[in-house]
Amino acid sequence: MAESVQIREVGMRDGLQSIAEIMPTETKLAWLDAEYAAGVREIEVSSFVPPKLLPQLADAEAVVKHALTLPGLTVSALIPNSRGAERGLALGVHEMNFVLSVSEGHNLSNVRRSTEESVADFRRVVELCREQGGANRPRVNCGLATSFGCTIEGDVDEDRVRRIANEVAAAGADGIILADTVGYGNPAAIGRVFRRVIADIAPVPVAAHFHDTRGLGLANVLAAFAAGCKAFDASLGGLGGCPYAPGATGNIVLEDTVFMFESMGLETGIDLEKLAAAREIVHRALPEVMLYGAIAKAGLPRNFHPVAQAA
Ligand code: ZN
Repeated sequence: MAESVQIREVGMRDGLQSIAEIMPTETKLAWLDAEYAAGVREIEVSSFVPPKLLPQLADAEAVVKHALTLPGLTVSALIPNSRGAERGLALGVHEMNFVLSVSEGHNLSNVRRSTEESVADFRRVVELCREQGGANRPRVNCGLATSFGCTIEGDVDEDRVRRIANEVAAAGADGIILADTVGYGNPAAIGRVFRRVIADIAPVPVAAHFHDTRGLGLANVLAAFAAGCKAFDASLGGLGGCPYAPGATGNIVLEDTVFMFESMGLETGIDLEKLAAAREIVHRALPEVMLYGAIAKAGLPRNFHPVAQAA
């Protein structure tokens, strides 16, 4: 059997949250269905933030309910706090992603709490899920934002990333997501930090969440993979540029990430030709929004063989 990697679509949350024009719920459901048909089996479908803070994701409940009808799909949602965790528990999502920033300045400006206070909040979220979730409780991951640099503080100390990853694992995280939130990471730093954190907290899995802001997205993916990471966040068409910063791209491009791994003989389970249908849905719904990706532009090379077909 071919070795495989796991790719999670985060465009419906991370991509859409930076776009002002509200995507209708039916379009989100059509997008979900098209990605499911293409073989995507893990999707962060929304965020349980207060609807008035983020009108784009005010339909979180409806999107989650629909996603839960798709067999074999891991339905994932971002939770900012215990209140969000309660909404996720009530709906029965499979996976919740709490986020805190390793950079003190970034965490203070985002949630007006120190990083240590947010680690304590995460501990309470884990306890809440253990108490109320029973045997079928969702997996609770912790995302460590700004792990590779911060727009406020610049460099982020690698030992600090490691220490907080260990604290969060000790608090009961089912998984950790090391995030290069603003695209400051480089392959050398990413290789070092992933290798250390994976060794420290095994068997708790460590996933990668990278933005392609400065063009190093796929190089960083490869560095994390070489360091032992097997799970990667990506968004269709790299959705998620900041509307106020022209040229600032969003997450790493889902299609290109799938292409890279499949070309290397690593199975993703995702069909690139079917993924094009999902891209068309997003493009038609948000014609003003820039979609990225080399494969969408150039097409698949003649010698491309998806792993599933070669096996
Ligand atoms: Zn992100």
